Amino acid sequence: MQSAVQLKQVDISFSVSGRPPFRAVAGADLSVAAGEFVAIVGPTGSGKSTLLNAAAGLLRPSAGTVLIEGKPLDGLNRRAGYLFQADALMPWKTARDNVAISLEIAGTPRREALAQADAWLTRVGLHGFGDRYPHMLSGGQRKRVAMAQVLIRDPAILLMDEPFGPLDAQTRLIMGDLLLDLWQQDRKAVLFVTHDLEEAISLSDRVVILSTGPDARIIGDFPIPLERPRDVSEIKLTAEFQNIHRDIWHLLKDQVLKAYAVKEPAR
Ligand code: ADP
Ligand code: MG
Repeated sequence: MQSAVQLKQVDISFSVSGRPPFRAVAGADLSVAAGEFVAIVGPTGSGKSTLLNAAAGLLRPSAGTVLIEGKPLDGLNRRAGYLFQADALMPWKTARDNVAISLEIAGTPRREALAQADAWLTRVGLHGFGDRYPHMLSGGQRKRVAMAQVLIRDPAILLMDEPFGPLDAQTRLIMGDLLLDLWQQDRKAVLFVTHDLEEAISLSDRVVILSTGPDARIIGDFPIPLERPRDVSEIKLTAEFQNIHRDIWHLLKDQVLKAYAVKEPAR
């Protein structure tokens, strides 16, 4: 089957003035099938965001190719919606308008966009909150609005970079359940970046491990055969989850220790 996202032998280097190029990621081969949920896990600074940005078309690889639904990516990946750690809500717009604007930009008439925004706010559990401004919402509620803002455009591919990072532990679990619930309904291809192995296992079909950079490589690719639908907080208690966690952590731990030992290059 054709992949939704495919990275082939991707290298990504950064040039910082007066220094030799810094190769963050080397030889990355990764594919996400249509409808598949894949997590990339690695220590902080390993190159997770860099890889995701390459799939988003925000960064051009210095070598290798990025294919989106079989076609070489040139410029922004318009088949994808992005959800980053910091939400991109406009503080001067209500929740409803923040969601509707995604459609209005694409030319949907305002009345229609508002009706769909209300339906999406309901789907993410914010029925009745449409008139609130972002500062009147909790972190978890703002994240729900941000999810609606992305999903309303019905992207074939979802790219998520530590989307629940700033939330407290309980809210993260609840948001994980919401994400799986929505994903279960229309199975988009998801590439989900996190440093949290438990989060990755509980959500994904496959977990890919990135080594500590520079020259970060994909050093592990683990299928997660836990049955669905899943309850993100309950699943961690099962023996099956714990066995998978133990296997992957064994590999990841060395990389985490290395990441702490490596001195950041002076800039
Ligand atoms: P992660 O998301 O895994 O924490 P990143 O992908 O953000 O890591 O960064 C990987 C490496 O690339 C880090 O060493 C970081 O300092 C470096 N890096 C990221 N973006 C840039 C940039 N724009 N210019 C120079 N170096 C960068
Ligand atoms: Mg990052």
